[in-house]
Amino acid sequence: MSKLDSKIPEGAIDQKWTKYRSTVALVNPSNKRSLEVLVVGSGLAGASAAATLAEMGYKVKVFCFQDSPRRAHSIAAQGGINAAKNYQNDGDSTYRLFYDTIKGGDYRAREGNVHRLAEVSSSIIDQCVAQGVPLAREYGGLLSNRSFGGTQVQRTFYAAGQTGQQLLLGAYSALQRQVGSGNIELCHRHEMLDIVTIDGVTRGIIARNLITGEMEKHFGHAVLLCTGGYGNVFYLSTNAMGSNVTAAWKAHKKGAFFGNPCYTQIHPTCIPVSGDHQSKLTLMSESLRNDGRIWVPKKKDDNRKATDIPEEERDYYLERRYPAFGNLVPRDVASRGAKERCDAGYGVGNSKMAVYLDFAFNTARYGRTEATKRNIHNPSHEEIMKMGKEVVKEKYGNLFDMYQQITGENPYEVPMRIYPAVHYTMGGLWVDYNLMTTVKGLYALGEANFSDHGANRLGASALMQGLADGYYVIPYTLGVYLSTEVTRMSAEKDKADSIEKLKTNHPAFEKALNEQNDIINKFLTINGTKSVESFHKRLGLIMWNKCGMARNKQGLTEAIAEIQALRKEFWSDVRVLGTATEFNPDLEKAGRVADFIELGELMCKDALHREESCGGHFREEHQTEDGEAQRDDVNFAYVAAWEYKSESNWELNKEELKYENIKIAQRSYK
Ligand SMILES: Cc1cc2nc3c(=O)[nH]c(=O)nc-3n(C[C@H](O)[C@H](O)[C@H](O)COP(=O)(O)OP(=O)(O)OC[C@H]3O[C@@H](n4cnc5c(N)ncnc54)[C@H](O)[C@@H]3O)c2cc1C
Repeated sequence: MSKLDSKIPEGAIDQKWTKYRSTVALVNPSNKRSLEVLVVGSGLAGASAAATLAEMGYKVKVFCFQDSPRRAHSIAAQGGINAAKNYQNDGDSTYRLFYDTIKGGDYRAREGNVHRLAEVSSSIIDQCVAQGVPLAREYGGLLSNRSFGGTQVQRTFYAAGQTGQQLLLGAYSALQRQVGSGNIELCHRHEMLDIVTIDGVTRGIIARNLITGEMEKHFGHAVLLCTGGYGNVFYLSTNAMGSNVTAAWKAHKKGAFFGNPCYTQIHPTCIPVSGDHQSKLTLMSESLRNDGRIWVPKKKDDNRKATDIPEEERDYYLERRYPAFGNLVPRDVASRGAKERCDAGYGVGNSKMAVYLDFAFNTARYGRTEATKRNIHNPSHEEIMKMGKEVVKEKYGNLFDMYQQITGENPYEVPMRIYPAVHYTMGGLWVDYNLMTTVKGLYALGEANFSDHGANRLGASALMQGLADGYYVIPYTLGVYLSTEVTRMSAEKDKADSIEKLKTNHPAFEKALNEQNDIINKFLTINGTKSVESFHKRLGLIMWNKCGMARNKQGLTEAIAEIQALRKEFWSDVRVLGTATEFNPDLEKAGRVADFIELGELMCKDALHREESCGGHFREEHQTEDGEAQRDDVNFAYVAAWEYKSESNWELNKEELKYENIKIAQRSYK
């Protein structure tokens, strides 16, 4: 029998969530006051969950490793957030958002979860507007929308190129309001190093105070991991430098299954790698594909300047291959398109590993519209471009500035050079419909879970999912579990050694704390010759070369052996500087890299076992004649949920995916 129960409610797809909400067990207000919830992570998922749960009356503690919740990686999100409001009257609906998301994920996500996400999407926008989030508006005051990949409607709400920042400020304000009211205790500069379970049930966490080095025990009736994605396993990615997998990985080793670890999103529009000493890549938002056209020269090794290549000698390969969606095909498709052209010798720039993202055509189009609006007849080309640039600047100014600062080139004058880079991880902790992992009382929200995006996430859907999980899903689903805790507490109230009486004095906390101390001591006593950073970099190279945009059996088999060897070397030859009782970024990083190494092995194992291509997981052995991902629905229409057994040893559990409301088909954007 499968160990996985997704707990999707019975009934018609559009009634599941409504019925669930109306019939689930509730926790009464006075009981809520005695229930403690630990929220690890203060990005959009964590901050929205913590603020909402505190508002509802639970006692909440929030942890983040940054100095302020405002610095969570969510702040980096640029382009926007989806919602099926149909403000553009262009045919959008809850069903269409549901459909686009399932199709975009290459039919590897759960119908029940995704429909719920589409249903609550509109409420998220209302909530954020009520908080004062300055989403972009049309001249007349109505909220504005733009297009993102994989859709033919305009459903993306945005705040210039800073949508994540503005949404996070909204959630942070709600969080701080609860901190001010005494309902939330905020533990910043704290890193969760392990969960604590007693008889298989989550009872708290071990965290390290990153300023003093002190190890702390925290009790909770439930723990929510809102700890983000693990794209930094590739070393170079668009993620914030601090993003890591430690919280999820430690939970995994304590029994939480890891879902689809190999599903990684490679974003097509990033500033290309420029040298060996780089530690970060920069995203150029997908929103730019609304007005930027992607092309390469038709001639191989064409060394002319972009502006010297005439129109008829340019290959707008996405428009050519996918006329229905053009430059707005989903990310996996656009990324593979760029790789294919560069590998075939049509790349541009010094490295030849880049393609152009060109705004000239639409700058001119905007310029002509402006000229008409301003009653300027027969404007010159210069006048048109000047007026067009003003429009482009208003839409994407901060992104253009960022590009110019990093590359030294002016994208108003010459096309941007872009190349795909690691950006997001669809895989994560396996959760059921309630967002509970396979460890009782342990939940995962936002990018940390595997839930809604299948094998490829559509642009602007991560913010939607994080906020859906935090503001709208967990407030209902957590009560289902906590109501059983109320019953337990009442039954155990006269027991001298009850969980409630012992809390962090329970021996399980001491044991977990000692285990973490041992790991830290080990790091500091190896005294090897190689830096933590060097191991991270080597891991990243293995992952990118053999488990990146294209994967094959031979490469993955080699990668597994290489990572196992790297792990041995790490534990015998790493040199970690400083001590355990001070602010020590090198020590923090050592723990994160150790966990990334183990995760990397599992990712390769997952990619190796999945003998099909789907979404971001492209196995070279499985492609159609024209190079598209070739799924195998007979053998692989399941979520791979890996159970940790021991070092390098996992058991595969499968959650079968059933499609009852969408006809499963070969994905086409032509
Ligand atoms: C450059 C960039 C641009 C993007 N733009 C968009 C966009 O326009 N639209 C969109 O939908 N998506 C976008 N995304 C994706 C989106 O930003 C993320 O998926 C999303 O913000 C993740 O939110 P989160 O709350 O799950 O996690 P995060 O925001 O990553 O927050 C993680 C939190 O967990 C804490 N944490 C982690 N580990 C620990 C630990 N061990 N102990 C204590 N605390 C811990 C951190 O301190 C942090 O508070 C973008 C991503 C990138 C990289």
